[in-house]
Amino acid sequence: MTENTTYKGYKGLTLSVLKSFNAPVWSEVELVTTKGKYKGLILPRSETADEFHVVLKLPIGYNIGIAAENITEIKVFGNKEAHYKIPEKEFPVDPSKPSVKLLGTGGTIASRLDYRTGAVIPAFSPGELYGSVPELADYCNLDTEKLYGVFSENMGPEQWIGTAKAIGEEIEKGVHGIVIGHGTDVMHHTAAVLSFMVQNSPVPIVMVGSQRSSDRPSSDAALNLIHAVKTAAESDIAEVMVCMFGPTSDMYGLLHRGTRVRKMHSSYRSTFRTIGEIPLAMVDREKITPLKYDYKKRRNDKYVEINPVFEEKVSIVYYYPNMKPDIIDSLVDNGYKGIVIAGTGLGHVNKPVYPALQRAYDKGVAVYMTVQTLWGYVQMYVYETGRVMLDLGVIPLANMLPEVAYVKLGWVLGQTDDLEKVKNIMLTPIAGEITEREPSNGYLIYQGGIPEVEEFISKYRK
Ligand code: ASP
Repeated sequence: MTENTTYKGYKGLTLSVLKSFNAPVWSEVELVTTKGKYKGLILPRSETADEFHVVLKLPIGYNIGIAAENITEIKVFGNKEAHYKIPEKEFPVDPSKPSVKLLGTGGTIASRLDYRTGAVIPAFSPGELYGSVPELADYCNLDTEKLYGVFSENMGPEQWIGTAKAIGEEIEKGVHGIVIGHGTDVMHHTAAVLSFMVQNSPVPIVMVGSQRSSDRPSSDAALNLIHAVKTAAESDIAEVMVCMFGPTSDMYGLLHRGTRVRKMHSSYRSTFRTIGEIPLAMVDREKITPLKYDYKKRRNDKYVEINPVFEEKVSIVYYYPNMKPDIIDSLVDNGYKGIVIAGTGLGHVNKPVYPALQRAYDKGVAVYMTVQTLWGYVQMYVYETGRVMLDLGVIPLANMLPEVAYVKLGWVLGQTDDLEKVKNIMLTPIAGEITEREPSNGYLIYQGGIPEVEEFISKYRK
């Protein structure tokens, strides 16, 4: 082995420390440091990472970085090079089972660790999936197609349009359900935009991701995939949904309507919550339990309306105190056709912004108001300031979530420039993005100190 491969990625101080104890990568070691002892496996270091830390994989599966300057001794016990090739097996075909198509776009769910760079990289094939999650064959005949291999922050109009078209083609071919593997960060944007671009689907369209990559013991990838595939194969909810962990434990998944769902926690597996509504259903390996009944039902035909358009000159502005009018002015000057504001409280911005709103209106820019509280409705008749903004042409969007409003406005402006028509479509609920009322049990009350919540946490949290 050359030095390059033996000490992959390590340089400077860490390289000399590892060498002085004859501890190349893949050594099983006990690291003695001034702060304590750690047992684990020395992993290759990312080529772009700093030169001050050794990366150790702990027996529980987590990787930690240890400052080389604190290392006083390294005891080497053995060597265990990891080969992260996922075993490929041909997916079994059972003509009595429904057919499900999994369209991959990327994200952690389609990832494994690349120990050359230390990065999480996408890896996606049907055989790999079956090799790692054989239970999928219990529910359906699965076919897969990798549409994209991106982390979801890189999803945008081009990929949304491509995904909508691919869904249309699969429905025409007669699949019984569609699963879309997607990064979690932007999954709610894509779920919303697909709810508009793909209408009257005869089959479930289930988006799924994972918060923890499949090389980690706490990964939610396999179970989320099982739940999503079961939903696509068996559920009679023919809507765009997000399927992810319900509670923090692996008790069940929740099916969220594509226009009412949002990622709400940067690391919990139970990160997706339905906002201002309740989820559509619970799903586990055995059953799908509806929580709501007013959903679009599965049909036997192959008819679907695909309307894959998006105007890119649309923006979302999150209002903050002391925002200056130039924020709005610069969008107008740069040719933006639509602006969604996430306003404070019932839907407010400060007075200095009003002239910029007037100017936007005069230039034919569509300006819509949503609330950054997420729960609740825009109400611009309550305060004088709200009424002034209505006079400036700002249109309130009831309880449409800001991100949903952003993608809906992009989709509507992709179809027409006629602002009256735009307003009409924006205010007409298409896929549950505006609802008449928020159910009393639709508000998130996950707060510390409340006895029943404490009980829930101690019982189920892992
Ligand atoms: N950053 C990743 C993504 O959204 C996270 C994930 O997949 O969960 O693509």
